[in-house]
Amino acid sequence: TITSLANPIIKRLRSLERKKGRTETGLFLAEGARLVMQGLQNGWRADVLLVASSMLSRAHIKALLDVAKASETKIVDVPERLLSKVSRKDNPQAVIAAFEQKHTPLSSLDTNSDKIWLALYEIRDPGNLGTILRTADCANLAGVILVGTCCDPYSVEAVRASMGSIFDIPFSSAGFDEFNDWRSVAQLKMVAASVNGTTRHDRVIYGARPIILMGNEQAGLPEHVEAACDTLALIPMRGGADSLNLAQATAIITYEAWRQKGFV
Ligand code: SAM
Repeated sequence: TITSLANPIIKRLRSLERKKGRTETGLFLAEGARLVMQGLQNGWRADVLLVASSMLSRAHIKALLDVAKASETKIVDVPERLLSKVSRKDNPQAVIAAFEQKHTPLSSLDTNSDKIWLALYEIRDPGNLGTILRTADCANLAGVILVGTCCDPYSVEAVRASMGSIFDIPFSSAGFDEFNDWRSVAQLKMVAASVNGTTRHDRVIYGARPIILMGNEQAGLPEHVEAACDTLALIPMRGGADSLNLAQATAIITYEAWRQKGFV
């Protein structure tokens, strides 16, 4: 049991709100019993799990603690006010855990299956990233590549928006040249979603092994990146806006590619 904000465990968990704290510790926060259970069941290692003292007798919390104990997670019960301090929310979840980050190199990703891949070029909004990881998970994608300087998938906002998909969907980071070499060797057809697209997104033949490339929220994709793609796909738009929101455009094009595969 911990009751003091000055306790080193609480201080360490509070530091995970910032990139510096996450880099120094190699940890990240996941909030909520369902999310934490998903992480543990998918083999992610939790370093510490905080649980609200008032919730210890609930059946679903007991079940979670059994799984956590089996994986040798340190379990600490705390008053709700300390959970609030860690999550920086007035109504915190009953459970918050610090998980160890995974950094999977591109070369370790399995490119043998006939699944759709997704690549995100220099995306900056963690809410978009988490939402996209969730979409990628729902659409049975092979994985997601973060190309260039992207926002941190382990930020609190990205993990929250992913609703647990961060624990399900393989992802990796790489510079553009390394990424492009990797996808050429893997023989993935690269379809960029672009407002400069020349083919309507539902008329593109994605084929068995496509990789869909999405651009930065402000700048889209640079010319040399678009030039490296096999096809530039445009999602039709009418009206005054010059583009769709990145996460929504990703859902539209990904689901079209998946529809062409019969949703399998
Ligand atoms: N001003 C940026 C540009 O010129 O590309 C708009 C960026 S948009 C907010 C972010 C990304 O969403 C784009 O790079 C593209 O990948 C995708 N996107 C948005 N609207 C699209 C559309 N109508 N067709 C295809 N892709 C789109």
